[in-house]
Amino acid sequence: MAECWSIEDARDLYGIHRWGADYFDLNEEGDVVVNLPGEGDPEAVVLKELIENLRDRGRSLPLILRFRNLLDSRIEALNSSFRRAAEKHGYQGAYRGVYPIKVNQQQQVLEEITACGCRYHFGLEVGSRPELLAALAYMHDPEALLICNGYKDEAFIDLALQATRMGLQIILVVEMPGELPLIINRAEALGIRPHLGVRFRLSTKSEGLWAGSGGDRSTFGLNATQLVDAVDLLKENNYLDCLRLFHYHQGSQLPNIRAIREAVLEAVRVYVALAGEGAPMGLLDLGGGLAIDYDGSHTNSPSSCNYRMDEYAGTLVEVVKESCEHAGLPHPTLITESGRAVVAPCSVLVFNILDVACFSHPERPEAPDPDNHEVIHKLAEVCERAGTGQPQECYNEALFYRDQVRALFNHGQVSLRERALAERTFWHISTVLATEIRELPYVPEELEQLEDQLTDFYYGNFSVFQSLPDHWAIDHLFPVMPLHRHLEEPTRRAILADLTCDSDGRIDRFADRETVRHHLPVHPKEPGEAYLIGVFLTGAYQETLGDLHNLLGDPNVVSVGLEDGKPTVTHEVRGDSVADVLSYVEYEPGKLEARFLHFADQAVARGEITAAQRTEAIAAFQSSLEGYTYFEG
Ligand code: PLP
Repeated sequence: MAECWSIEDARDLYGIHRWGADYFDLNEEGDVVVNLPGEGDPEAVVLKELIENLRDRGRSLPLILRFRNLLDSRIEALNSSFRRAAEKHGYQGAYRGVYPIKVNQQQQVLEEITACGCRYHFGLEVGSRPELLAALAYMHDPEALLICNGYKDEAFIDLALQATRMGLQIILVVEMPGELPLIINRAEALGIRPHLGVRFRLSTKSEGLWAGSGGDRSTFGLNATQLVDAVDLLKENNYLDCLRLFHYHQGSQLPNIRAIREAVLEAVRVYVALAGEGAPMGLLDLGGGLAIDYDGSHTNSPSSCNYRMDEYAGTLVEVVKESCEHAGLPHPTLITESGRAVVAPCSVLVFNILDVACFSHPERPEAPDPDNHEVIHKLAEVCERAGTGQPQECYNEALFYRDQVRALFNHGQVSLRERALAERTFWHISTVLATEIRELPYVPEELEQLEDQLTDFYYGNFSVFQSLPDHWAIDHLFPVMPLHRHLEEPTRRAILADLTCDSDGRIDRFADRETVRHHLPVHPKEPGEAYLIGVFLTGAYQETLGDLHNLLGDPNVVSVGLEDGKPTVTHEVRGDSVADVLSYVEYEPGKLEARFLHFADQAVARGEITAAQRTEAIAAFQSSLEGYTYFEG
């Protein structure tokens, strides 16, 4: 244990104070805690202890921890930010947030959001018929809004209209020019006056990973000409009095507050124009995009944002107020469709490290035997000199002799044992040089990557494709850190490889204060230790976008809440079994079992196994079918 290492150093190294938003921290014992807000002071729950309890209850890793109190707290924070902004700017209109179901559609999440959101009349946004059905089952507050975006067929429109008749405030948002005639047609057929909205394609350009969701070439929404045509169609059919809402969506994870301000300025101009056409309006839906500071840098980098929730709300409220007052219009009800800002902090993915592959080699390898090949001796001479100055020369020579040994091996002139000794020697030289160059004022370019080449692989019990698809697909950064041992300095550097047989199946980019680093500082894994890693802020999009690469299925999910001030498991969802994932890809578990049984019977008939061995093999097959798709042990 390094004497000068402190908890403060660990906080700084992993940035937990920067991205943790007061929800996550380290306690004095060096364990990660989640601070669950409750009635009084937040309750600090030690994640490692929680995991140990869950493992005692038979829940295997990997698992997703979902914190209900954080969901509650995020909805509260969002509503409070808009309340404070309205007070500050003298805004007369209400705020009615809606949660876009697609961001995390899990039933537990929806149930919790509708339950704790009802005191703010927090509504829902849906983008498909299945999402509409989920929303209609859970949200019955007549003062909340149910915003219907996305493509809408006749069945979708009919259901939305029927629920409107039952007293819900359902807004059918016209996204495509062809939708409006169909909506009017169905409204006529059913004799129901719809609440209508229009989605507009702003010309304001956005920034970040989802910049394509906004601007002239965005996929959804009407352009100016289509909007004018829609207004004319509404007028012709006497439906203009149904047009109440104007909507735009600039993109998810908007990193820059200036772009948000520009977009809302343009949007209010269109809102004012629609009111000028004679539509009653009253609802201004500013879409999603409120960002999460995943890397804790507070900058406009794609995984961060240069504003806080209060500034976001203040900017929107101020611009809308000024523009509407200028046009002589009352302040509209403001709607945001914030998804990630509500759910991202609520989930943590936890997995254990199964194995480690080390490349750095601090121990000096044994000296070569006199009868070893001459090149091995040359490499050993370089090894003698490593660390005594001239690192570049040593590195060049080490590379040269290492490659010569490989070539000689391919020609049968060097044995496998000699090659192994040469490689150990090469890694030792690299390790010594990597330490040496840390002290240098200038490091030659070739040597800069030495540290990266020495980074360990820590093999984790998880699948990037299933649990962190955005890391794999779009280089999104999530905060990652060990859940314990923070009283010790983490002396190793690792890339986290997953269980899939794919070179992409790894976490190899980590947030650093100013940049992205290509390793995670970790502790040496002790034999038999369950070394636990947490990936934080994973509640948005990750669960449903994940796929079945290598047939690794959904992990276990455990919802935790405070009951009488104590952390309590409120809900558990078992992850996919092997039989489950096989059935998703068209296998029938019963048939699989029958085929294996037949194969075992034939093996008995051929005399390859006994009847007792057949029973054992079949039992192993059956219990694997029932088992978890991840490493169990
Ligand atoms: N609304 C619409 C129409 C969206 O497409 C999205 C996602 O991109 C959202 C809301 C949610 O965005 P975010 O999660 O960034 O708040």
